Amino acid sequence: MRLLLVEDDALLGDGLRAGLALDGHSVDWVRDGESARTALRAEDYGACVLDLGLPRRDGLAVLRELRARGSRLPVLILTARDTLADRVAGLDAGADDYLVKPVELDELRARVRALLRRAAGGAAPLLSCGEVALDPAARRVTLAGRPVELSAREYALLHDLISHKGRIRSRQELESGLYAWGQEVESNTVEVFVHHLRRKLGAQAIRTVRGMGYVMGDAP
Ligand code: CA
Repeated sequence: MRLLLVEDDALLGDGLRAGLALDGHSVDWVRDGESARTALRAEDYGACVLDLGLPRRDGLAVLRELRARGSRLPVLILTARDTLADRVAGLDAGADDYLVKPVELDELRARVRALLRRAAGGAAPLLSCGEVALDPAARRVTLAGRPVELSAREYALLHDLISHKGRIRSRQELESGLYAWGQEVESNTVEVFVHHLRRKLGAQAIRTVRGMGYVMGDAP
């Protein structure tokens, strides 16, 4: 899944990005509120980790604007102080969850996983479709209960598709989940990885919807 990380502290941001990448996410990291605003308008993210104290535009303003234009993107805010007023303001502005600094990396990862699960429409820790099951916490995939070995990108693609079960994902949407900014996009990547996934999970696991994209499960 492609995530946006907004954190102005270089050291912390670097650590958070590395931590989130451990779960197979591609992470775009910006360091001020204006850049966050631009990124949120330009890209299709799975979730956003948003620091509140930011240069150029504070995190609450970024969040309020996002919600004002109707975005339901899952947002986890980072607050510097454990004050009730901060947390309440953040939640009222439309945050889905919050963490108080200093951030424990394992906790952040678990909370982001929970946000992505809820956004996928279920609180169950296991995402499944037919005989394919994906456990985001363990980064494990099984087919009819048997473990399946996937590369990082195969896993990321499957995670995207299974999180949007029953919804068609365009090639562009899937591709944006595979690459962070600055990474070179190879041509036909999505087609290649879908091919790999079908070989490992069965030809019927992922359907091609002509001219539109790919889907797992029944599309409307
Ligand atoms: Ca800050």
